[in-house]
Amino acid sequence: MDKYDKDRDFMRSSTESKSTKNDLAEYYEGLKNYIANIDSLRRNAYPLPVPGKTGATSIPSVQEKYLAPVIQRNGDRLCKCNRCEKTFYLSKDGMQVHEDQCVFHYGRIITKRVFILRFKYFGGWNGYFNERAYSCCGQLVGRTGCTTYKNHVFRYYGDMSSGYVTTASSITAGIGVYALDCEMCYTSNGMELCRITLIDHNIKIICDTLVKPSGRVIDYNTRFSGVTESDMEGINVTLRDVQATLLSYINGDTILVGHGLEHDLLVLKLIHEKIVDTALVFPHRRGLPYKRSLKNLARDHLGRTIQSSDKIGHDSIEDAATCIDLMKWKIKNDEWKKQLTLLKNLYFRKPINEML
Ligand SMILES: [Zn+2]
Ligand SMILES: [Zn+2]
Repeated sequence: MDKYDKDRDFMRSSTESKSTKNDLAEYYEGLKNYIANIDSLRRNAYPLPVPGKTGATSIPSVQEKYLAPVIQRNGDRLCKCNRCEKTFYLSKDGMQVHEDQCVFHYGRIITKRVFILRFKYFGGWNGYFNERAYSCCGQLVGRTGCTTYKNHVFRYYGDMSSGYVTTASSITAGIGVYALDCEMCYTSNGMELCRITLIDHNIKIICDTLVKPSGRVIDYNTRFSGVTESDMEGINVTLRDVQATLLSYINGDTILVGHGLEHDLLVLKLIHEKIVDTALVFPHRRGLPYKRSLKNLARDHLGRTIQSSDKIGHDSIEDAATCIDLMKWKIKNDEWKKQLTLLKNLYFRKPINEML
């Protein structure tokens, strides 16, 4: 059996028993309270429909942040690398013009306690200090990158004026809840989809397949995507096939659950408004734009270890399943808190004659 399901297993049918339908209805009702509103979707760069323009979306913040062409020189465009932030020239066909290595830290910036030896003669003192460091190698911020790649890469979601599909409301289709997780790679067209995983509310796999990007692959982003060049051999599933499959499961009323789904929906070129985003439901204590990682949420609320460092890349099924379980935990926990507050009010605050 291959590492991933290939074309032959692209679509899987499922039969639902009566009990799972009841579970689904209950979960769907619970999730309704956590659906992100339109303002929140807009602020977090989710693709939304543009009135009067079918197949288009418009996200000025993303365009400004990631749009590669800035200066023209002999037809080459000046780009900013998404990893090391160095500028480089990109030819018309999306390839790097000059040879230049990409040296960067792939980790996040964390606060670390380090012992620093300072000369008392200059007015300093020895001791432990909180310093900003990279989570990948532990080096302090500002040190040369610990990872080197042959090419720079650029994050760009392509033309936003066409190619987008929108989920439509359906009276006949039943309710549905699915969790979505995509893996992306860097190509000559920017950032493209290379793996899609869709699971239902019972963690049953609906679709898990590798997808052939339309541009030439510059970097498979294996550290995060887990996808390698050899995995891609013989893969002919295109983005159009994936969109068609997704639309056969997801209608306008389906709730999509995921962590930071805006990037997933941008590479899928899918416009959908019923979103439960665990990165928004469980906010960072410092507020936006800081977001908590799925790994930390799984550890804190489910006591589960995901994305462990001995694995190559993220496991899409594991990530999607974690989102489903996090929301089940959240619904139960909030319900329990509500009951507790009610009980407290009932027994400790209200006079007995008001209770009767
Ligand atoms: Zn770079
Ligand atoms: Zn590093």
